[in-house]
Amino acid sequence: MTDQTPALELEDLTMHYGPVRAVDGVSFAIRPGQVTALVGESGSGKSTVGRCVVRLVEPTAGTVRIAGTDITHLSRRVLRKHRDDVSIVFQDPAGSLDPRMLVGDVVGEPLRIGARRLPRKERDRRVAEELGRVGLRPAVARRYPHELSGGQRQRVSIARALISSPTLLIADEPTSALDVSVQAAVLNLLADLQRDIGFACLFITHDLSAVEYLADEIAVMYLGQLVEMGSRERIFARPRHPYTQALLAAAPVADPVEQRSRTRVLLGDDLPSALDPPSGCRFRTRCPLAFDRCATEVPPPIPVGDGYAACHLVRPDGTGPDVRVSSGHEVGA
Ligand code: SF4
Repeated sequence: MTDQTPALELEDLTMHYGPVRAVDGVSFAIRPGQVTALVGESGSGKSTVGRCVVRLVEPTAGTVRIAGTDITHLSRRVLRKHRDDVSIVFQDPAGSLDPRMLVGDVVGEPLRIGARRLPRKERDRRVAEELGRVGLRPAVARRYPHELSGGQRQRVSIARALISSPTLLIADEPTSALDVSVQAAVLNLLADLQRDIGFACLFITHDLSAVEYLADEIAVMYLGQLVEMGSRERIFARPRHPYTQALLAAAPVADPVEQRSRTRVLLGDDLPSALDPPSGCRFRTRCPLAFDRCATEVPPPIPVGDGYAACHLVRPDGTGPDVRVSSGHEVGA
């Protein structure tokens, strides 16, 4: 692995659960130390991408490379050697922490069984250090997960994920199961740790506003496919895909005056079924700008600045309409 080797590379990643096309040909790369947010509604397939990366599910097709190693077809035994390269933090800390284990044992587990195995005393020292890093007192190590608050439990999950110094952290909706009052604190903690330690991160979320201060790159997923990619600056300033524009319009803003003055773009109906995705552009059944060609031709990715958007209305120079202003009224599917 060189300094330029991506921390994560996905090539045509595909995951079908029988007839359900949860992920359909997703490709992108994350550079070392880079944070890429994968955003989309519930059911878009974004969590399945995270699960394929840690091989919690076996991809139907495509390639997953972590730090240059193709892990797609490695046996479980060989895969264990790469266990320390990637960690995952799940949405629900209550469900992901073993309730029978003391917090100290939960956090220290990767140093008990992983390639970076350490003797007990050294492990306890590292656990105390890691707990401190996520803002918890060392005494928390002698408590059980159920004795902690939701926010503290998520800090424990983060400590466990980072104790083996992974190259890549998958954060799968890490704050959405938490009380609103602690969500910002946990997000800030993740952002601070990422800056200090410099791990690469795939941040999976349904909430575009949550990634504004965290992500370097944003990948927008709709019904199993990526519809737009680009730098955070470009996506927030000039989103090109109508779906990205709708997601941005739906994200709440702190300023109530700005909130009231915004054009609302309603996505209307729920996400169509991944069992039978719409022909042509998969977003067409909810897109306020859809026209005949959208039903018959799959839109190719058109370069936009540092990324792309897959929509027939994006022009070759990377410009295109904005459903937030071009409709001039509230639009729905
Ligand atoms: S290709 Fe058509 S349906 Fe799809 S986003 Fe663009 S305008 Fe809307």
